[in-house]
Amino acid sequence: MEEFSYEERQKIVEETIEKYMKYVSPGLARLFKFANLATVEWEGKGAQVCDIFGEAYIDCIGGFGVFNVGRNHPRIVEKAIEQLQRLPLSTRTLFNKQQADLAEKLAQITPGNLQYSFFCNSGAEAIEGALKLARLYTKKKKLVSCIHSFHGKTMGALSVSGREVYKKPFEPLIPETYQVPFNNIGAMREVVDEQTAAVIVEPVQGEGGVNIPSPDYLPQVREICTRVGALLILDEVQTGLGRTGKMFACEHYGVVPDILTLAKGLGGGIVPLGAFISTAEIWQVFEENPLIHSSTLGGNPLSCAIGLETLKVLEEEGIPRKAHEKGQYFLGKLQGLREKFPDLVKEVRGMGLLIGVEFFDSDMASLIAMEMAARKVLVVYTLNNPCVIRLEPPLVVSWEELDIVGEALEDSLQAVRKIVEEVMK
Ligand code: PLP
Repeated sequence: MEEFSYEERQKIVEETIEKYMKYVSPGLARLFKFANLATVEWEGKGAQVCDIFGEAYIDCIGGFGVFNVGRNHPRIVEKAIEQLQRLPLSTRTLFNKQQADLAEKLAQITPGNLQYSFFCNSGAEAIEGALKLARLYTKKKKLVSCIHSFHGKTMGALSVSGREVYKKPFEPLIPETYQVPFNNIGAMREVVDEQTAAVIVEPVQGEGGVNIPSPDYLPQVREICTRVGALLILDEVQTGLGRTGKMFACEHYGVVPDILTLAKGLGGGIVPLGAFISTAEIWQVFEENPLIHSSTLGGNPLSCAIGLETLKVLEEEGIPRKAHEKGQYFLGKLQGLREKFPDLVKEVRGMGLLIGVEFFDSDMASLIAMEMAARKVLVVYTLNNPCVIRLEPPLVVSWEELDIVGEALEDSLQAVRKIVEEVMK
Protein backbone atom coordinates (compact mmCIF):
# COMPACT_ATOMS: atom_id res chain seq x y z
CA MET A 1 0.00 0.00 0.00
CA GLU A 2 3.04 2.25 0.62
CA GLU A 3 3.39 2.67 -3.14
CA PHE A 4 0.53 5.21 -3.14
CA SER A 5 0.54 8.70 -1.68
CA TYR A 6 -2.53 9.85 0.27
CA GLU A 7 -3.70 11.88 -2.74
CA GLU A 8 -3.33 8.87 -5.03
CA ARG A 9 -5.41 6.74 -2.69
CA GLN A 10 -8.03 9.42 -2.53
CA LYS A 11 -8.09 9.44 -6.33
CA ILE A 12 -8.49 5.65 -6.47
CA VAL A 13 -11.50 5.90 -4.14
CA GLU A 14 -13.10 8.68 -6.17
CA GLU A 15 -12.51 6.89 -9.47
CA THR A 16 -13.83 3.57 -8.13
CA ILE A 17 -17.03 5.19 -6.88
CA GLU A 18 -17.41 7.00 -10.22
CA LYS A 19 -16.98 3.72 -12.12
CA TYR A 20 -19.57 2.06 -9.87
CA MET A 21 -21.92 4.93 -10.74
CA LYS A 22 -21.20 4.59 -14.46
CA TYR A 23 -20.52 0.87 -15.00
CA VAL A 24 -21.56 -1.27 -12.02
CA SER A 25 -24.60 -0.03 -10.13
CA PRO A 26 -25.48 3.57 -9.22
CA GLY A 27 -27.98 2.25 -6.67
CA LEU A 28 -25.36 0.20 -4.88
CA ALA A 29 -22.90 3.10 -4.97
CA ARG A 30 -25.46 5.38 -3.28
CA LEU A 31 -26.24 2.69 -0.70
CA PHE A 32 -22.55 2.25 0.25
CA LYS A 33 -22.03 6.00 0.52
CA PHE A 34 -25.16 6.44 2.61
CA ALA A 35 -23.97 3.68 4.96
CA ASN A 36 -20.66 5.44 5.78
CA LEU A 37 -18.81 3.03 3.51
CA ALA A 38 -17.36 5.37 0.88
CA THR A 39 -13.96 3.70 0.77
CA VAL A 40 -12.22 0.92 -1.15
CA GLU A 41 -11.36 -2.43 0.45
CA TRP A 42 -7.72 -3.30 -0.09
CA GLU A 43 -6.38 -6.18 2.01
CA GLY A 44 -7.49 -8.56 4.71
CA LYS A 45 -6.17 -10.83 7.43
CA GLY A 46 -7.97 -12.98 10.01
CA ALA A 47 -11.21 -11.26 11.00
CA GLN A 48 -10.24 -7.84 9.69
CA VAL A 49 -10.29 -6.03 6.39
CA CYS A 50 -8.30 -2.85 5.66
CA ASP A 51 -9.33 -0.11 3.30
CA ILE A 52 -6.94 1.62 0.94
CA PHE A 53 -5.98 4.13 3.65
CA GLY A 54 -4.91 1.31 5.98
CA GLU A 55 -7.99 1.77 8.17
CA ALA A 56 -8.86 -1.61 9.73
CA TYR A 57 -12.46 -2.82 10.12
CA ILE A 58 -13.60 -5.85 12.10
CA ASP A 59 -15.69 -7.65 9.52
CA CYS A 60 -18.90 -8.97 11.06
CA ILE A 61 -20.47 -9.29 7.61
CA GLY A 62 -17.70 -11.51 6.31
CA GLY A 63 -19.04 -11.61 2.74
CA PHE A 64 -22.32 -12.89 4.27
CA GLY A 65 -20.52 -15.69 6.10
CA VAL A 66 -17.71 -16.66 3.76
CA PHE A 67 -14.61 -16.31 5.91
CA ASN A 68 -14.99 -19.25 8.29
CA VAL A 69 -11.22 -19.84 8.35
CA GLY A 70 -10.49 -16.10 8.27
CA ARG A 71 -9.09 -14.06 5.44
CA ASN A 72 -5.92 -15.19 3.73
CA HIS A 73 -5.23 -18.18 5.95
CA PRO A 74 -1.53 -18.93 5.25
CA ARG A 75 -2.02 -22.68 4.68
CA ILE A 76 -4.83 -22.05 2.23
CA VAL A 77 -3.01 -19.29 0.37
CA GLU A 78 0.06 -21.54 0.05
CA LYS A 79 -2.05 -24.42 -1.31
CA ALA A 80 -3.75 -22.03 -3.73
CA ILE A 81 -0.47 -20.67 -5.10
CA GLU A 82 0.91 -24.17 -5.60
CA GLN A 83 -2.19 -25.35 -7.49
CA LEU A 84 -2.54 -22.08 -9.38
CA GLN A 85 0.96 -22.37 -10.76
CA ARG A 86 0.56 -26.04 -11.72
CA LEU A 87 -3.03 -26.54 -12.99
CA PRO A 88 -5.88 -24.23 -11.96
CA LEU A 89 -8.55 -25.35 -14.43
CA SER A 90 -9.50 -28.76 -15.73
CA THR A 91 -9.66 -30.20 -19.26
CA ARG A 92 -13.03 -31.64 -18.11
CA THR A 93 -12.09 -34.89 -19.82
CA LEU A 94 -9.14 -36.22 -17.79
CA PHE A 95 -9.48 -37.34 -14.16
CA ASN A 96 -9.24 -34.46 -11.69
CA LYS A 97 -7.45 -35.62 -8.52
CA GLN A 98 -8.30 -32.53 -6.48
CA GLN A 99 -12.03 -33.00 -7.13
CA ALA A 100 -11.85 -36.69 -6.20
CA ASP A 101 -9.95 -35.91 -2.97
CA LEU A 102 -12.42 -33.22 -1.92
CA ALA A 103 -15.43 -35.44 -2.67
CA GLU A 104 -13.87 -38.24 -0.57
CA LYS A 105 -13.26 -35.85 2.33
CA LEU A 106 -16.84 -34.56 2.21
CA ALA A 107 -18.14 -38.14 2.23
CA GLN A 108 -16.05 -38.75 5.37
CA ILE A 109 -17.14 -35.69 7.32
CA THR A 110 -20.79 -35.20 6.32
CA PRO A 111 -23.36 -37.01 8.46
CA GLY A 112 -25.01 -40.35 7.66
CA ASN A 113 -24.54 -41.98 4.31
CA LEU A 114 -23.99 -38.87 2.20
CA GLN A 115 -21.33 -39.94 -0.28
CA TYR A 116 -21.32 -38.32 -3.74
CA SER A 117 -20.60 -34.65 -4.47
CA PHE A 118 -21.18 -32.33 -7.40
CA PHE A 119 -19.15 -29.11 -7.38
CA CYS A 120 -20.22 -25.69 -8.66
CA ASN A 121 -19.39 -22.05 -8.06
CA SER A 122 -22.04 -20.58 -5.76
CA GLY A 123 -24.75 -21.31 -3.25
CA ALA A 124 -27.58 -20.69 -5.70
CA GLU A 125 -26.00 -23.10 -8.18
CA ALA A 126 -25.77 -25.76 -5.48
CA ILE A 127 -29.49 -25.28 -4.78
CA GLU A 128 -30.37 -25.53 -8.49
CA GLY A 129 -28.53 -28.84 -8.67
CA ALA A 130 -30.14 -30.16 -5.49
CA LEU A 131 -33.65 -29.32 -6.73
CA LYS A 132 -32.96 -30.95 -10.10
CA LEU A 133 -31.58 -34.07 -8.44
CA ALA A 134 -34.67 -34.34 -6.23
CA ARG A 135 -37.00 -34.12 -9.24
CA LEU A 136 -34.91 -36.57 -11.22
CA TYR A 137 -34.81 -39.14 -8.44
CA THR A 138 -38.39 -38.94 -7.22
CA LYS A 139 -39.93 -38.26 -10.68
CA LYS A 140 -42.18 -35.80 -8.82
CA LYS A 141 -42.48 -32.04 -9.22
CA LYS A 142 -43.70 -30.44 -6.02
CA LEU A 143 -41.17 -28.48 -3.93
CA VAL A 144 -41.87 -27.23 -0.42
CA SER A 145 -39.84 -24.57 1.38
CA CYS A 146 -40.25 -22.00 4.14
CA ILE A 147 -41.38 -18.41 4.33
CA HIS A 148 -38.43 -16.05 4.96
CA SER A 149 -36.01 -18.67 3.71
CA PHE A 150 -33.15 -17.63 1.45
CA HIS A 151 -31.71 -20.04 -1.07
CA GLY A 152 -30.26 -17.70 -3.71
CA LYS A 153 -31.44 -15.55 -6.59
CA THR A 154 -31.30 -17.74 -9.69
CA MET A 155 -34.76 -18.73 -10.97
CA GLY A 156 -34.96 -22.13 -9.25
CA ALA A 157 -33.39 -21.02 -5.98
CA LEU A 158 -35.58 -17.91 -5.99
CA SER A 159 -38.68 -20.04 -6.56
CA VAL A 160 -38.11 -21.80 -3.23
CA SER A 161 -36.99 -18.66 -1.38
CA GLY A 162 -39.38 -16.85 0.90
CA ARG A 163 -39.46 -13.11 0.36
CA GLU A 164 -41.88 -11.62 -2.17
CA VAL A 165 -39.89 -8.46 -2.88
CA TYR A 166 -37.18 -10.52 -4.59
CA LYS A 167 -39.63 -12.85 -6.34
CA LYS A 168 -42.59 -10.85 -7.61
CA PRO A 169 -40.82 -8.97 -10.44
CA PHE A 170 -39.62 -12.25 -11.97
CA GLU A 171 -42.82 -14.26 -11.99
CA PRO A 172 -43.75 -16.72 -13.29
CA LEU A 173 -41.13 -18.63 -11.34
CA ILE A 174 -40.96 -22.42 -11.49
CA PRO A 175 -44.36 -24.01 -10.86
CA GLU A 176 -45.40 -26.33 -8.05
CA THR A 177 -43.43 -24.58 -5.33
CA TYR A 178 -45.13 -24.07 -1.97
CA GLN A 179 -44.04 -22.06 1.05
CA VAL A 180 -45.01 -22.73 4.64
CA PRO A 181 -44.13 -20.86 7.86
CA PHE A 182 -40.76 -21.91 9.30
CA ASN A 183 -40.76 -23.88 12.54
CA ASN A 184 -44.44 -24.77 12.15
CA ILE A 185 -44.63 -28.53 11.82
CA GLY A 186 -48.43 -28.56 11.41
CA ALA A 187 -48.17 -26.35 8.30
CA MET A 188 -45.43 -28.56 6.88
CA ARG A 189 -47.49 -31.70 7.51
CA GLU A 190 -50.49 -30.19 5.72
CA VAL A 191 -48.60 -29.38 2.52
CA VAL A 192 -46.06 -32.19 2.12
CA ASP A 193 -47.65 -35.20 0.45
CA GLU A 194 -47.01 -38.14 -1.91
CA GLN A 195 -46.58 -35.69 -4.84
CA THR A 196 -43.69 -33.89 -3.15
CA ALA A 197 -40.23 -34.23 -4.67
CA ALA A 198 -38.42 -32.37 -1.92
CA VAL A 199 -38.62 -30.20 1.14
CA ILE A 200 -35.81 -27.66 1.33
CA VAL A 201 -34.95 -26.02 4.65
CA GLU A 202 -32.12 -24.09 6.26
CA PRO A 203 -31.35 -25.63 9.69
CA VAL A 204 -31.16 -22.06 10.98
CA GLN A 205 -32.63 -19.37 8.74
CA GLY A 206 -29.78 -16.97 8.06
CA GLU A 207 -31.14 -14.22 5.82
CA GLY A 208 -34.58 -14.64 7.38
CA GLY A 209 -33.12 -12.96 10.47
CA VAL A 210 -31.25 -15.77 12.24
CA ASN A 211 -34.31 -17.86 13.11
CA ILE A 212 -33.55 -20.92 15.20
CA PRO A 213 -36.16 -23.71 15.11
CA SER A 214 -37.31 -25.64 18.16
CA PRO A 215 -35.22 -28.78 18.79
CA ASP A 216 -37.87 -31.17 17.47
CA TYR A 217 -38.68 -29.27 14.25
CA LEU A 218 -36.06 -30.71 11.89
CA PRO A 219 -36.41 -34.29 13.20
CA GLN A 220 -40.15 -34.04 12.52
CA VAL A 221 -39.60 -32.60 9.03
CA ARG A 222 -37.26 -35.55 8.42
CA GLU A 223 -39.98 -37.95 9.55
CA ILE A 224 -42.62 -36.39 7.28
CA CYS A 225 -40.29 -36.56 4.26
CA THR A 226 -39.42 -40.19 4.91
CA ARG A 227 -43.07 -41.12 5.34
CA VAL A 228 -44.24 -39.64 2.01
CA GLY A 229 -41.08 -40.44 0.02
CA ALA A 230 -39.98 -36.81 -0.43
CA LEU A 231 -36.31 -35.92 -0.25
CA LEU A 232 -35.08 -33.63 2.51
CA ILE A 233 -32.63 -30.99 1.25
CA LEU A 234 -30.80 -29.15 4.00
CA ASP A 235 -29.33 -25.89 2.78
CA GLU A 236 -26.14 -25.41 4.79
CA VAL A 237 -24.68 -22.80 2.46
CA GLN A 238 -24.59 -20.36 5.38
CA THR A 239 -24.80 -22.63 8.44
CA GLY A 240 -22.26 -25.24 7.32
CA LEU A 241 -18.55 -25.63 8.02
CA GLY A 242 -18.44 -24.62 11.66
CA ARG A 243 -20.56 -21.47 11.56
CA THR A 244 -23.09 -22.66 14.19
CA GLY A 245 -20.55 -24.38 16.44
CA LYS A 246 -20.59 -27.79 14.75
CA MET A 247 -19.21 -28.73 11.35
CA PHE A 248 -22.81 -28.95 10.05
CA ALA A 249 -25.80 -27.35 11.76
CA CYS A 250 -27.92 -30.47 11.18
CA GLU A 251 -25.68 -32.24 13.71
CA HIS A 252 -27.26 -30.12 16.47
CA TYR A 253 -30.55 -31.82 15.63
CA GLY A 254 -29.33 -35.33 14.84
CA VAL A 255 -30.88 -35.08 11.38
CA VAL A 256 -29.38 -36.48 8.18
CA PRO A 257 -30.67 -34.98 4.94
CA ASP A 258 -30.95 -36.74 1.58
CA ILE A 259 -29.15 -33.84 -0.06
CA LEU A 260 -26.88 -31.30 1.63
CA THR A 261 -25.84 -28.04 -0.02
CA LEU A 262 -22.68 -26.09 0.77
CA ALA A 263 -20.88 -23.01 -0.62
CA LYS A 264 -19.62 -19.78 0.99
CA GLY A 265 -16.89 -20.95 3.42
CA LEU A 266 -16.03 -24.03 1.35
CA GLY A 267 -13.83 -21.85 -0.88
CA GLY A 268 -11.56 -21.00 2.08
CA GLY A 269 -12.41 -17.31 1.83
CA ILE A 270 -10.41 -17.00 -1.37
CA VAL A 271 -12.34 -18.65 -4.24
CA PRO A 272 -15.97 -19.41 -5.17
CA LEU A 273 -16.91 -23.05 -4.52
CA GLY A 274 -20.26 -24.73 -3.93
CA ALA A 275 -21.40 -28.33 -3.71
CA PHE A 276 -24.39 -30.59 -3.31
CA ILE A 277 -23.88 -33.97 -1.71
CA SER A 278 -26.18 -36.98 -1.67
CA THR A 279 -26.32 -40.73 -1.16
CA ALA A 280 -25.18 -43.53 -3.48
CA GLU A 281 -28.80 -44.64 -3.86
CA ILE A 282 -30.00 -41.22 -5.04
CA TRP A 283 -26.89 -40.58 -7.16
CA GLN A 284 -27.72 -43.63 -9.30
CA VAL A 285 -30.01 -41.41 -11.38
CA PHE A 286 -26.93 -39.70 -12.80
CA GLU A 287 -25.60 -43.01 -14.12
CA GLU A 288 -27.63 -43.23 -17.28
CA ASN A 289 -26.49 -39.77 -18.40
CA PRO A 290 -23.68 -38.38 -16.22
CA LEU A 291 -23.75 -35.13 -18.20
CA ILE A 292 -27.40 -34.40 -17.49
CA HIS A 293 -26.16 -31.82 -14.99
CA SER A 294 -22.76 -30.18 -15.52
CA SER A 295 -20.68 -27.03 -15.07
CA THR A 296 -17.66 -25.90 -17.10
CA LEU A 297 -15.84 -24.26 -14.21
CA GLY A 298 -17.37 -26.11 -11.24
CA GLY A 299 -15.05 -28.50 -9.45
CA ASN A 300 -11.90 -27.04 -10.96
CA PRO A 301 -8.58 -28.23 -9.48
CA LEU A 302 -7.82 -24.83 -7.95
CA SER A 303 -11.05 -24.45 -5.99
CA CYS A 304 -11.10 -28.13 -4.98
CA ALA A 305 -7.50 -28.07 -3.67
CA ILE A 306 -8.49 -25.00 -1.65
CA GLY A 307 -11.73 -26.67 -0.49
CA LEU A 308 -9.86 -29.70 0.82
CA GLU A 309 -7.29 -27.59 2.64
CA THR A 310 -10.13 -25.53 4.13
CA LEU A 311 -11.80 -28.64 5.56
CA LYS A 312 -8.47 -29.79 7.03
CA VAL A 313 -7.86 -26.38 8.61
CA LEU A 314 -11.40 -26.36 10.06
CA GLU A 315 -10.81 -29.77 11.63
CA GLU A 316 -7.21 -29.43 12.71
CA GLU A 317 -7.67 -25.99 14.27
CA GLY A 318 -10.89 -27.04 16.02
CA ILE A 319 -12.68 -24.07 14.46
CA PRO A 320 -16.28 -25.32 14.92
CA ARG A 321 -15.68 -25.84 18.66
CA LYS A 322 -14.10 -22.41 18.96
CA ALA A 323 -17.08 -20.88 17.13
CA HIS A 324 -19.34 -22.49 19.73
CA GLU A 325 -17.30 -21.15 22.66
CA LYS A 326 -16.91 -17.66 21.25
CA GLY A 327 -20.54 -17.61 20.18
CA GLN A 328 -21.67 -18.39 23.74
CA TYR A 329 -19.45 -15.66 25.15
CA PHE A 330 -20.54 -13.07 22.61
CA LEU A 331 -24.22 -13.95 22.86
CA GLY A 332 -23.97 -13.38 26.64
CA LYS A 333 -22.54 -9.92 26.05
CA LEU A 334 -25.23 -9.08 23.53
CA GLN A 335 -27.99 -10.26 25.87
CA GLY A 336 -26.56 -7.79 28.40
CA LEU A 337 -26.92 -5.02 25.82
CA ARG A 338 -30.51 -6.03 25.10
CA GLU A 339 -31.30 -5.60 28.79
CA LYS A 340 -29.59 -2.20 28.79
CA PHE A 341 -31.39 -0.98 25.66
CA PRO A 342 -34.88 -2.53 25.80
CA ASP A 343 -36.26 0.53 23.94
CA LEU A 344 -34.15 -0.35 20.86
CA VAL A 345 -33.29 -4.05 20.90
CA LYS A 346 -36.19 -6.45 20.60
CA GLU A 347 -34.29 -9.73 20.70
CA VAL A 348 -30.86 -11.26 20.42
CA ARG A 349 -30.52 -14.81 19.12
CA GLY A 350 -27.85 -16.99 17.64
CA MET A 351 -26.07 -20.26 17.33
CA GLY A 352 -22.28 -20.35 17.30
CA LEU A 353 -21.16 -17.25 15.44
CA LEU A 354 -24.33 -16.81 13.43
CA ILE A 355 -25.98 -14.12 15.51
CA GLY A 356 -28.86 -11.74 14.87
CA VAL A 357 -29.81 -8.62 16.80
CA GLU A 358 -33.42 -7.66 16.14
CA PHE A 359 -34.49 -4.03 16.44
CA PHE A 360 -38.00 -2.65 16.72
CA ASP A 361 -37.85 -1.31 13.17
CA SER A 362 -35.64 -1.45 10.12
CA ASP A 363 -34.60 2.24 10.36
CA MET A 364 -33.04 1.53 13.75
CA ALA A 365 -31.16 -1.42 12.25
CA SER A 366 -29.86 0.78 9.41
CA LEU A 367 -28.81 3.53 11.82
CA ILE A 368 -26.96 1.00 13.96
CA ALA A 369 -25.11 -0.36 10.91
CA MET A 370 -24.04 3.19 10.00
CA GLU A 371 -22.92 3.97 13.54
CA MET A 372 -20.98 0.70 13.68
CA ALA A 373 -19.27 1.50 10.36
CA ALA A 374 -18.19 4.84 11.80
CA ARG A 375 -16.64 2.82 14.67
CA LYS A 376 -14.87 0.52 12.20
CA VAL A 377 -17.08 -2.53 12.63
CA LEU A 378 -18.92 -3.84 9.57
CA VAL A 379 -22.45 -5.18 10.07
CA VAL A 380 -25.47 -5.34 7.77
CA TYR A 381 -29.13 -6.29 7.97
CA THR A 382 -30.31 -9.74 6.92
CA LEU A 383 -31.75 -9.85 3.39
CA ASN A 384 -35.18 -11.24 4.29
CA ASN A 385 -35.63 -9.35 7.54
CA PRO A 386 -34.27 -5.79 7.55
CA CYS A 387 -35.08 -5.33 11.28
CA VAL A 388 -32.23 -7.73 12.11
CA ILE A 389 -28.53 -7.01 11.83
CA ARG A 390 -26.28 -9.98 11.52
CA LEU A 391 -23.08 -10.49 13.46
CA GLU A 392 -21.31 -13.14 11.46
CA PRO A 393 -17.58 -12.60 11.89
CA PRO A 394 -14.91 -14.95 10.55
CA LEU A 395 -14.80 -17.89 12.97
CA VAL A 396 -11.17 -17.11 13.81
CA VAL A 397 -12.21 -13.78 15.38
CA SER A 398 -10.33 -13.22 18.64
CA TRP A 399 -11.87 -12.70 22.09
CA GLU A 400 -10.44 -9.16 22.07
CA GLU A 401 -12.06 -8.42 18.72
CA LEU A 402 -15.41 -9.65 20.04
CA ASP A 403 -15.03 -7.28 23.00
CA ILE A 404 -14.33 -4.41 20.61
CA VAL A 405 -17.45 -5.27 18.58
CA GLY A 406 -19.50 -5.38 21.80
CA GLU A 407 -18.19 -1.94 22.83
CA ALA A 408 -18.85 -0.50 19.35
CA LEU A 409 -22.41 -1.82 19.51
CA GLU A 410 -22.96 -0.33 22.95
CA ASP A 411 -21.66 3.08 21.78
CA SER A 412 -23.78 2.83 18.64
CA LEU A 413 -26.88 2.03 20.69
CA GLN A 414 -26.20 5.11 22.87
CA ALA A 415 -25.84 7.24 19.75
CA VAL A 416 -29.04 5.90 18.17
CA ARG A 417 -30.94 6.33 21.43
CA LYS A 418 -29.96 10.01 21.37
CA ILE A 419 -31.13 10.35 17.75
CA VAL A 420 -34.46 8.70 18.59
CA GLU A 421 -34.91 10.95 21.64
CA GLU A 422 -34.20 14.03 19.49
CA VAL A 423 -36.76 12.95 16.90
CA MET A 424 -39.39 12.26 19.60
CA LYS A 425 -38.97 15.72 21.19
N1 PLP B 1 -28.51 -20.59 0.60
C1 PLP B 1 -28.32 -19.87 1.73
C2 PLP B 1 -28.78 -20.45 3.03
C3 PLP B 1 -27.72 -18.62 1.69
O1 PLP B 1 -27.56 -17.93 2.82
C4 PLP B 1 -27.29 -18.11 0.44
C5 PLP B 1 -26.66 -16.79 0.35
O2 PLP B 1 -26.67 -16.00 1.26
C6 PLP B 1 -27.51 -18.89 -0.71
C7 PLP B 1 -28.11 -20.13 -0.59
C8 PLP B 1 -27.09 -18.38 -2.06
O3 PLP B 1 -25.71 -18.38 -2.16
P1 PLP B 1 -24.99 -17.50 -3.30
O4 PLP B 1 -25.16 -16.07 -2.94
O5 PLP B 1 -23.56 -17.97 -3.25
O6 PLP B 1 -25.65 -17.85 -4.59
